[in-house]
Amino acid sequence: MRILITGGAGFIGSALIRFLIESTEHTVLNVDKLTYAGNLSTLSTAKDSPRYQFYQLDICDSQRLAELVTTFQPDAIMHLAAESHVDRSITAPSAFIQTNIVGTYNLLEVARSYWESLNSAAQSTFRFHHISTDEVYGDLPHHTDDPNYSDHLFTEDTPYSPSSPYSASKASSDLLVRAWHRTYNLPTLVSNCSNNYGPYQFPEKLIPLVISHALQGKTLPIYGKGDQIRDWLYVDDHVRGLYAVLSLGQPGETYNIGGHNEIENLSVVKQICEILDELRPNSQPYSEQIRFVTDRRGHDRRYAIDASKIARKLDWMPQETFATGLRKTVEWYLTDQDWCNQISQQSSR
Ligand code: NAD
Repeated sequence: MRILITGGAGFIGSALIRFLIESTEHTVLNVDKLTYAGNLSTLSTAKDSPRYQFYQLDICDSQRLAELVTTFQPDAIMHLAAESHVDRSITAPSAFIQTNIVGTYNLLEVARSYWESLNSAAQSTFRFHHISTDEVYGDLPHHTDDPNYSDHLFTEDTPYSPSSPYSASKASSDLLVRAWHRTYNLPTLVSNCSNNYGPYQFPEKLIPLVISHALQGKTLPIYGKGDQIRDWLYVDDHVRGLYAVLSLGQPGETYNIGGHNEIENLSVVKQICEILDELRPNSQPYSEQIRFVTDRRGHDRRYAIDASKIARKLDWMPQETFATGLRKTVEWYLTDQDWCNQISQQSSR
């Protein structure tokens, strides 16, 4: 296949491209604006492959996007480009509306026009895969206020109830994708995934931020009491899930992808500290650096995914437990600390 990937210089997009180049025969065109969150170093050796091309482009530029799609003639589009950090969406929502909503609309229109130009055989195999988040579903009951909290999980039929500008913009884009399937028959797939972690994640997100702050002797900030629950998934498991959705998913369907790892934020941070205590011992335990800070506005308390549909229909299951995935992640950041420092310096310029 010829696969056009948007946002392939980011955390998940780059893991997806590394997988496609290393483990399949597909050809990839990476379309990325290279915002503060995008960096081609995340591609590692995949960028040297003859099956990989890069084009720097804002997905809001519909004219150049259309030219690119016509030239590349993709068999599939996997759409990951987005503004992705909730805190930034609270302080400056505009870019989230532009990229996540207007950009997705542009890409859908470009894809529709291209798809309508294909012959019927190519039309039936073409796929538009939109990569989204579990945050679109909003907040779930938490153990501090509901003894039966664990009965509540996000399924593909859970109504959307986004809380932040980020999740509202992703929810909007999901609904546009669904509408383009229903109205125009564009063969779309949507996947909604829980929190990812792993190598090459931009160091503003919880896990890489805690690792880099810990190593630099800085405080480890925890929102509120740190009892917010997230379901964590190792990024390479997500990538295999995305590939299963692309290869085997039914057009028009949504698939939830989760790690079966519901963990409170404070526990995530303590587990990182324990691994660091073992691998890079300090004069005092790293957990001494933990500080509680004012909670994020509108902070959702619990997310948890029911990933039984993708397991049943597409035979996908995560391979990493949180313990194995977290250890791999900490080890990677210890080995590639230079990458983290370089990315942080570049984005602060
Ligand atoms: P990221 O912020 O690491 O990467 C986003 C990439 O998109 C960057 O390379 C950036 O340069 C690019 N980009 C941003 N605006 C663009 C534009 N206008 N035109 C072209 N490129 C642009 O994000 P990520 O964590 O890799 O997430 C990828 C996708 O997966 C997003 O759609 C996100 O909503 C979704 N998702 C992320 C998580 C997670 O935990 N990180 C979980 C579920 C879903």
